[in-house]
Amino acid sequence: PVLIRMDGASKQFANGTVAVRDMNLDIREGEFISFLGPSGCGKSTALKMIAGLLSISAGEITVNGHPPGKGREQDIGFVFQEATLMPWATVFDNVFLPLRMKGMKKKYARDEVEEALASVGLSSFSGAYPRQLSGGMKMRVSIARALVTKPKLLLMDEPFAALDEITRFKLNNDVLELWARHGLTVIFVTHSVFESVYLSNRVVVMAARPGRVSRVVDLPGGYPRT
Ligand code: ADP
Ligand code: ADP
Repeated sequence: PVLIRMDGASKQFANGTVAVRDMNLDIREGEFISFLGPSGCGKSTALKMIAGLLSISAGEITVNGHPPGKGREQDIGFVFQEATLMPWATVFDNVFLPLRMKGMKKKYARDEVEEALASVGLSSFSGAYPRQLSGGMKMRVSIARALVTKPKLLLMDEPFAALDEITRFKLNNDVLELWARHGLTVIFVTHSVFESVYLSNRVVVMAARPGRVSRVVDLPGGYPRT
């Protein structure tokens, strides 16, 4: 089944820049898809439109049959390029944040937070502060935070771009494992050809002219999964 449909989706910013132009794409449930292209081609804008973080200027996007956002943010996990953790809060409290925003009391959130931390291998760091963690570990906390509400859709915006190559490769494998284990649909924004080919079953290649999808490449393996 189709989870996300982009139908002529376009984004023009207030200053006139057209970042995404007439993007048409169906993303099936359970796919691991990447948006690949050079800096400035509109990958991040397209992702934010799907997340409901940016409005759409023309065309239509549906997520699970509904317009993005509209109070359904909990169904989507979003991981940004920077880990964006609250430095004054423990790892536990950072991962708890999305549940707190849903109005959940901390004492009832313990199982969910611990499960999310376990899924990224950081159970024993629950009481640590971000400054005590390596870059790779901070990113894993940020992934745990995105997964704590058990979303079906995980959006990642150049999540590992700031990390060294070895850490990045380890995290790629972690993400693949999470995808398989949780039955996620993942959209992974990257400018790395290696990363897109290694991770995804489909690569949407976006051209340097903003928003132009030059081709969609289906790769063997990965989909459909059982
Ligand atoms: P990518 O993620 O592929 O690097 P972006 O989606 O961030 O590209 O940006 C696409 C284009 O839109 C770029 O030309 C960028 O400068 C422009 N852009 C991004 N955000 C804004 C904004 N808030 N206002 C105006 N232009 C923007
Ligand atoms: P980076 O690759 O950014 O340095 P890693 O996630 O590989 O970050 O972790 C760096 C170091 O932190 C590792 O060498 C390891 O000793 C420690 N570490 C990372 N994750 C754990 C964990 N789950 N339990 C114990 N130690 C860990």
